[in-house]
Amino acid sequence: MLALRIRAPHDLALEELPDPHPGPDEVLVEVQAAGICGTDLEVLRGVHEAYRTGRGSFPITPGHEWSGIVRAVGSKVTRFAVGDVVTGETGLGCLRCEVCLRGRHSICPDLVETGIFNRDGAMRQLHVHPEVFTHSAAGLSPMQAAMAEPTAVALHSCRRGRVGVGDKVAVLGCGPIGLLVIQTARACGASAVLATSRSQPKLDKALELGADRVVNVAAEDIRAAADDFTRGKGFDVVLECTGNLEAADEALDIAGRLGRVVIVGAYRSQPFCHDIDRLIGKELDVMGTCGGPHAYADSLDLLRRGVVKAEPIVSHCFALTQYEQAFALAEQGGPDVLKIMLLPAG
Ligand SMILES: [Zn+2]
Ligand SMILES: [Zn+2]
Repeated sequence: MLALRIRAPHDLALEELPDPHPGPDEVLVEVQAAGICGTDLEVLRGVHEAYRTGRGSFPITPGHEWSGIVRAVGSKVTRFAVGDVVTGETGLGCLRCEVCLRGRHSICPDLVETGIFNRDGAMRQLHVHPEVFTHSAAGLSPMQAAMAEPTAVALHSCRRGRVGVGDKVAVLGCGPIGLLVIQTARACGASAVLATSRSQPKLDKALELGADRVVNVAAEDIRAAADDFTRGKGFDVVLECTGNLEAADEALDIAGRLGRVVIVGAYRSQPFCHDIDRLIGKELDVMGTCGGPHAYADSLDLLRRGVVKAEPIVSHCFALTQYEQAFALAEQGGPDVLKIMLLPAG
């Protein structure tokens, strides 16, 4: 089979590798779609936390947002059969430790992350995945099914922020995750959603996908807009999806009294300390979020029912052999670059 390999920082290649075989508890999947994510770029640059700390090692096949068709199952697999359309989770915990037993296997101390560190991902023609972390994507297109992973991340972040009926919510950043968070916040009951970006095409997309008000932060002051939108009360929940420290700072300002601030973006360990007293004066809850534990089944359901629309977020598709072009576009970004998909089967 053909497989993408990150062999060292900035060294990405398409290699011919032996076909993988499923272990007793694994399924073998013919990959149909695999999305490129900011995390893949961090791994490729060698700046991802797991590689900076020595937890992960090269080579690795990237790809944690994927879908495919089951082509073989291990001897102990009972929930899937050949021909099933499936997707799978990124953060694979041990399912035995205290953290996993508390339902948070995406932050297990013995974590491996599919396509990120210590386990090969799905940017290859054939992928093996543990049955327990595999989910049925029946009824979804390959592209929709591959978006189940970021949808689960978005839903888990809304659950972390306890987004509920009637909440006024701000979503900072309208990349793929921000655009999904807008929709999962709506699904959780948010009554009003404001979204920010520096890109007008992305703001247009946010409006199309359910934001009530958008703010182009290149031209408009977010604090004034937030004041106006919430009538001076501030937001019940702010979800920071940019990974930009300035936005994290704004998040603490535009959250209202008793507000919740969810840090979804990654900041690569840059120091952050701006007037921490704001947490006291407003009794803010500030929380991180990681992965989408126990959020896949609900996310797949939201995608099936069209409550969350994923296909408008896919901006570009490439064959696996066009990986150089696809990754160059992902690195370069741009106002209309959202989710880039590789199609290993096509
Ligand atoms: Zn991702
Ligand atoms: Zn564990």
